[in-house]
Amino acid sequence: MQNRGGVFEFAIFADRNWTDWLPTYAWAIEHREGVIVVDTGQGAHLLETGKSYHPYARWEVAFRIDPDEEIGPQLRALGIGPRDVKRVILTHLHMDHDGGLAHFPNSEILVAAGEIRTASGWAGRIRGYLPQRWPSWFDPAPFELAAEPFGPFARNRKLTDAGDIVAVATPGHTADHVSILVQDEDITFFLAGDASYNESLMLAGKVDGVSPDERTSSSTLNAIKSFALAHPTIYLPTHDPQSAIRLADRRILGTPTRVVSQEPGNKLRSVAR
Ligand SMILES: [Zn+2]
Repeated sequence: MQNRGGVFEFAIFADRNWTDWLPTYAWAIEHREGVIVVDTGQGAHLLETGKSYHPYARWEVAFRIDPDEEIGPQLRALGIGPRDVKRVILTHLHMDHDGGLAHFPNSEILVAAGEIRTASGWAGRIRGYLPQRWPSWFDPAPFELAAEPFGPFARNRKLTDAGDIVAVATPGHTADHVSILVQDEDITFFLAGDASYNESLMLAGKVDGVSPDERTSSSTLNAIKSFALAHPTIYLPTHDPQSAIRLADRRILGTPTRVVSQEPGNKLRSVAR
């Protein structure tokens, strides 16, 4: 592995029984401060939980993966071992984002403080989280977002010394959901988590059915859109089947025909599904 600043994506699961194929992507950033992983995808073990009557979990349980599709084996295939990953940042704690945590026992794990509170304990379980499935050692480092705007986003927190990776508040899907902005030269890789399920829903300002807070989600979508139209942005939601293609092509939102040539220092590989 070379320490250069590439962004990789991993299709953590592909459910062949789902009407439309939906991926869960996780992201690895080769950064000079160490590899940073954003979200960890689904875990095969999480799908043995049996019945859940929470609408979110019912929806999620439709997905299936095999153990070798989890993020650990996929990272190793790229030559990135668990000890290479300095930090794991989670956009939120739904099970298709924290399901691969077991692969990172030695990494610092960063989660927004409010999200940890919401997801923990019985109250978290009632809300559709699976705190009982977290690894026993799971003790994330909570971070607070400063009440300082970052473009159209009300709160932000820089997560690297270089200041080039920033968490911004994108509430709605969960109250403390964050998106991670990776700024590389003039391009922003917008790791949107579940702020919207795909790019067209975001551009249309359409709030998905799983979101508990429609008004908040809607203003988040507006903020993302105004950011993405004002800065060269590659928009990468977790479940958008086009995310991998957009990343591979370096497709800037709003300029569908433009393909930004890869910088010599950037590496990109996609992992097979
Ligand atoms: Zn979610």
